[in-house]
Amino acid sequence: MDFEAFFKSELDGLHGEGRYRVFADLERHRGNFPRATRHTPDGPKEVTVWCSNDYLGMGQHPAVIEAMKEAIDHCGAGAGGTRNISGTTHYHVMLERELADLHGKEAGLIFNSGYMSNWATLGTLGQKIPGLIIFSDALNHASMIEGIRYAKCERVIWKHNDLNDLEAKLAAADPNAPKLIAFESVYSMDGDISPIKEICDLADKYGAMTYLDEVHAVGMYGPRGGGIAEREGLMDRLTVIEGTLGKAFGVMGGYIAASTALCDFIRSFASGFIFTTALPPALAAGAIASIRHLKASPFERVRHHDRVKKLRTMLDQQGIPHLHNPSHIVPVIVGDAAKCKWISDILLDTCNVYVQPINYPTVPRKTERLRITPTPLHSDADIEHLVGSLHQLWSRCALARHVA
Ligand SMILES: *Cc1c(COP(=O)(O)O)cnc(C)c1O
Repeated sequence: MDFEAFFKSELDGLHGEGRYRVFADLERHRGNFPRATRHTPDGPKEVTVWCSNDYLGMGQHPAVIEAMKEAIDHCGAGAGGTRNISGTTHYHVMLERELADLHGKEAGLIFNSGYMSNWATLGTLGQKIPGLIIFSDALNHASMIEGIRYAKCERVIWKHNDLNDLEAKLAAADPNAPKLIAFESVYSMDGDISPIKEICDLADKYGAMTYLDEVHAVGMYGPRGGGIAEREGLMDRLTVIEGTLGKAFGVMGGYIAASTALCDFIRSFASGFIFTTALPPALAAGAIASIRHLKASPFERVRHHDRVKKLRTMLDQQGIPHLHNPSHIVPVIVGDAAKCKWISDILLDTCNVYVQPINYPTVPRKTERLRITPTPLHSDADIEHLVGSLHQLWSRCALARHVA
């Protein structure tokens, strides 16, 4: 086989569909988020980032940066091993305590990313619990889907956020089989929020465990940033809460919070936890500082909500269609991969506005979109510039508008 030709022809297919991924080559500036330098063939340009998952700008927060520097000065760069073989530093231990406290659970367990935490935890539960059936929301993140696939257990996919469909499927399964319901709180592409309480009620009725991915909510919702389940007073009803340290907390890493026995079980059996070098201590130190700050400070969350509201209002005034949802994610649907990429390119090249186009398979075909994520650090002028740029483009491209 001509491997090179194969790779190239597969890539040509992506180009043909307009969904070949091009990375923007960026350099963020300490203390100047959401501004970044973009490196182009014509030299560096300043852009405003509108699609970061550093939702609160904590990756630039002085407390986080100082904590990371201090940890490097204190104990060097890497962890030096897997958690089991010399890689557990005091920072890791403190971080796990911090996370358990954040979610009101007995224990926390950290992974090298949120992806790894979903993959390893769901994979291990599904492999090790005899006869486990995992009931997975149809729009669950790729990392959950891969974990369930890796588990090779029985899996039942229920219609997104559809309680009737979930109940019908729970009722149809063997009453004696152990069950787990896996879902998210804030779904990252549409920004809708699941009915956590009602799902927990069904879990109680059918004797199922619950597994909630709060990746897009931790740090941002609830009085201490514990997520939607904290806001709604439901944390104790979830068997496992999973989160990331890489989005609103601004650093990197993933985790679960659950009972001592469950965390110890995953720690002891999950390949994706055991056989990989621990996070650098400085990352753990930065995450601790970020979590502690957001537990005590409502300022970022209040300002964040205000910015989201301001952006939505201005989009509405210009008739730029966006999905109305109860979260901080503002999806502007374009509905065509090539057009979406084209709009994004023009925004970047002529307006210095960076919003990455979101295409299949991240979202279904025909729902290609610009996914806009305002942060507390976007000013009124930034919002006006973004909406003004979109307004001009919408006129130029004769894109559909909403009648306000
Ligand atoms: C980003 C994401 C993850 C993975 O988290 P990382 O820390 O980025 O690996 C998991 N679940 C959802 C819903 C996500 O959007």
